[in-house]
Amino acid sequence: MPFRIATFLMASFLGGACAAAILGWHFLWLGAWLGAVLWLLLDAWRARRLLEVLRVDAAGLPSRGPGVWGELAERIRKLLRAREQQTRQAEERLQEFLAAIQASPNGVVLLDEQGRIEWCNQTAAGQFGIDAERDLLQHLANLVRDPAFVAYLASWNYSRDVVIDAPSQAQGHRGHAARLSVQVHPYAGNRRMLLTRDITSLEQAEAMRRDFVANVSHEIRTPLTVLAGFVETLQNLPLDAEERSRYLALMGQQSHRMETLVNDLLTLSRLEGSAAPPPQRWTRIRALMAQCEDEGRGLSSRLSAKGHRLSFSMEGDSEIAGAPTELQSAMSNLVSNAIRYTPGGGEITVTWRLLPDGRGEFAVQDSGPGIAAEHIPRLTERFYRIDRSRSRETGGTGLGLAIVKHIAQRHGGELRIESTVGKGSRFALVFPLTRLRQASVLSAVA
Ligand code: ADP
Repeated sequence: MPFRIATFLMASFLGGACAAAILGWHFLWLGAWLGAVLWLLLDAWRARRLLEVLRVDAAGLPSRGPGVWGELAERIRKLLRAREQQTRQAEERLQEFLAAIQASPNGVVLLDEQGRIEWCNQTAAGQFGIDAERDLLQHLANLVRDPAFVAYLASWNYSRDVVIDAPSQAQGHRGHAARLSVQVHPYAGNRRMLLTRDITSLEQAEAMRRDFVANVSHEIRTPLTVLAGFVETLQNLPLDAEERSRYLALMGQQSHRMETLVNDLLTLSRLEGSAAPPPQRWTRIRALMAQCEDEGRGLSSRLSAKGHRLSFSMEGDSEIAGAPTELQSAMSNLVSNAIRYTPGGGEITVTWRLLPDGRGEFAVQDSGPGIAAEHIPRLTERFYRIDRSRSRETGGTGLGLAIVKHIAQRHGGELRIESTVGKGSRFALVFPLTRLRQASVLSAVA
């Protein structure tokens, strides 16, 4: 302010001095008056300029000029710059939050007081089959028409979630719709936040667990019931020695069946719970094949008087890295299945060879009844059997191929099944190149 008064007085004084010097002393006051008017006009012009700039765009404020208007402009500019920075930071934070919510595997939808979509992430959009931009401000209940969901949304009682079929095209298991759990959380008065979670695999796991428990109970109950019946007979009926020993033999069979089942269950749970097999423990394929042959010939002669035409052959002598007992169990299982399901006199060919891409294949080809195409994808499910009675008669548990598949996967390999009804089946274990090597001279001699 003192500067303003000083410049004003200076302008008047200069005006008066100039007028007196040029026109004479009589014009002193007129000059002073003109100087003051000029100062005022200049001042008004600068104030007007500042106002004009402020009205349009504060960024165009003049850089600091002299006087109160210059200082005012400078202060406004600093203030605005600080505000702009704050806004930018807030915007960046908001974008980060939104990006974090976008990255969430769960769906998030924000609804306004009327239940219209204010924002939703891509997960929710995908699950509900809506468009995150086009459907903004649409009523969610008009887009997701599942009656259970609509009733839940309207109830304003959100203590529990609601489970619905996902309205989107997303498919769950075997063509069933994906399942969604939706829970609403009210916030800021009547606004609502919806959280969605794809629980398809959870439900599947739960259903599998239930089926598994039911299957195990069923498998164990059958021999148990038979055993209990025999025990009762032995207790209550006077039997001669021959009958007694026949009953005891049958009881032995049933208890053996239970033992096999429990052993297979334990094998499966061990496979699921243990670390991957060691990549540096090498076993000769020749040794594994030899054991398969011993077991196979023994089983064939036990099961059928005619026996089977069995042949075992190897192309090259390789070693495989992994757990020898697991590998043996997988290979023997396939040989045993071929023998058990192929009628006596049938032909079974077991081969080991290196495929052109360097992977190794252990294959068992039989001339048995073959398997219809619809069963093939399900054969490795636990307790899945096509011919239940044949499986039981020959001591099957329905877990063999599930174990084989597990072992193959643990060794980085796969189980391939090809079959033609009436002609026979081919089960092959294919192992990756990384688990194979040429048998060393020392082990080849051994
Ligand atoms: P199981 O103990 O009943 O043999 P697996 O898991 O080993 O159980 O096999 C599942 C089902 O696959 C068997 O019940 C059988 O119906 C079928 N299967 C397996 N191997 C053969 C084969 N070589 N030929 C025909 N059917 C087979």
